[in-house]
Amino acid sequence: MVTVVGAGFAGSEAAWGLAQRGTPVRLVEMRPHRMTPAHQTGDFSELVCSNSFKSREADSPPGQLKAEMVALGSIVIPTGEAHRVPGGTALAVDREKYAASITQALNEHPLISVERRAIGPQEVEELAQQAGDPAHSLVIATGPLTTEDLATWLAGQTGQEHLYFFDAVSPTVEADSVNREIVFAESRYGKGGGDDYLNCPFNKEEYYAFIDALLAADKVPFKEFEEPKYFEGCKPIEEIAAKGRDSLRFGNFKPVGLTDPRTGRWPYAALQLRPENKEKTLYSLVACQTRMKWGVQQQVLRMVPGLTDAEFVRLGVIHRNTYIEAPKALDPTLQLRNRPGVYVAGQLTGVEGYVESAAMGIWAAHSISRRIAGAEVVPPPRASAFGSLISHLQDETEREFAPMNINWGLFPEVDLGPGKIPKSERRLAKLAAARSEFSAWSTTAAEM
Ligand SMILES: Cc1cc2nc3c(=O)[nH]c(=O)nc-3n(C[C@H](O)[C@H](O)[C@H](O)COP(=O)(O)OP(=O)(O)OC[C@H]3O[C@@H](n4cnc5c(N)ncnc54)[C@H](O)[C@@H]3O)c2cc1C
Repeated sequence: MVTVVGAGFAGSEAAWGLAQRGTPVRLVEMRPHRMTPAHQTGDFSELVCSNSFKSREADSPPGQLKAEMVALGSIVIPTGEAHRVPGGTALAVDREKYAASITQALNEHPLISVERRAIGPQEVEELAQQAGDPAHSLVIATGPLTTEDLATWLAGQTGQEHLYFFDAVSPTVEADSVNREIVFAESRYGKGGGDDYLNCPFNKEEYYAFIDALLAADKVPFKEFEEPKYFEGCKPIEEIAAKGRDSLRFGNFKPVGLTDPRTGRWPYAALQLRPENKEKTLYSLVACQTRMKWGVQQQVLRMVPGLTDAEFVRLGVIHRNTYIEAPKALDPTLQLRNRPGVYVAGQLTGVEGYVESAAMGIWAAHSISRRIAGAEVVPPPRASAFGSLISHLQDETEREFAPMNINWGLFPEVDLGPGKIPKSERRLAKLAAARSEFSAWSTTAAEM
């Protein structure tokens, strides 16, 4: 019997996927006996905040991900569709009916036995010791609000001093939306990998206009359970700026050693961009964590020279979270590298969002089922939405690893020949590649 710990988005998919393929599952969920600070009910797959599963449009990254999830036997997406409420192009759901329906389906499945209690480190260690046999695999899907003792156990397994209990994520932009006539490539004092960093140079007026807008912008208040305990170097830029209008240009935005080719001098201040993936299609704004509200955040960040037309695939957030450093700790099947048979699924892996977390539950169930059947686990093609998420979890590019939603920048570029190809055409080519390669893979390598 496989044990799945946590019946949120990932755990529900993992239990369902395994049971539907004939494997008995024990699904252990601590609610309602012990609640997290955000959940309100004892239902499985509860939506803790918004009721949106993002876009339903087929020609969008979340749309493609949903199509792939359905092809791999998802329970979350069809149940969401069954309880859809008006939401424009988004898949918005009636949260109560949706979660009640998932709970009922899992409770009634003949191969799933549900246990309602919190699993602690001692029990999880015992389960991990039996997990070498694929039929007794263990899936940890306890999410961003994992109980502290279990999170500490997990940190021990991954060799991390701590998991990321507090998440200070810098915004990320699509590389081709950065104005390269203003932004220049250079590592500080020319050290390190030449063009690893891109630099957005401020002059004096631009810098102070940015600081004024940053200080005036509305910020997201902390939730009750989110007492801010910043790691050094993770302070929001607005807090640093509030100490003095020059403090950012002597800290996170210091320009020293960066020569602007347009002036031959160091700029007044510089915001650096660092690649987020080895294809360099995404860049994060270095040390730019912020709690500015999302609407105003884009407006303020677009005041940064070179980012006027930036397309943000992720905005800055600082919130309670728990996730592991997947590129170091997980293999492509979501198994802990140093604990065979122990899988991690959901937001704990370093994806972000209901749908992405559910997808990682599907992938864990798929990997385990193949192993139980004695079949090879063939990773989904890089061009697909699943492949793109897994590539984010496996990419060893030096970066501050942070949770990521599915977005255009994660899909690999398709070679469309020389000349400037409009973005819309490039995106359609990415989707066409995702569809055809996923379809070929799912009818061969993914067949059970
Ligand atoms: C406050 C908050 C707001 C969010 N808002 C959004 C949003 O609006 N949209 C969005 O897409 N994403 C949002 N997210 C991210 C969201 O949590 C994830 O996208 C998604 O719920 C994660 O799925 P999961 O399966 O990994 O974890 P969860 O859905 O959280 O499921 C984990 C389950 O494990 C259980 N559990 C924890 N520890 C134990 C234990 N020791 N033993 C047994 N059971 C345990 C929990 O009770 C929970 O049911 C938000 C996250 C937080 C924290």
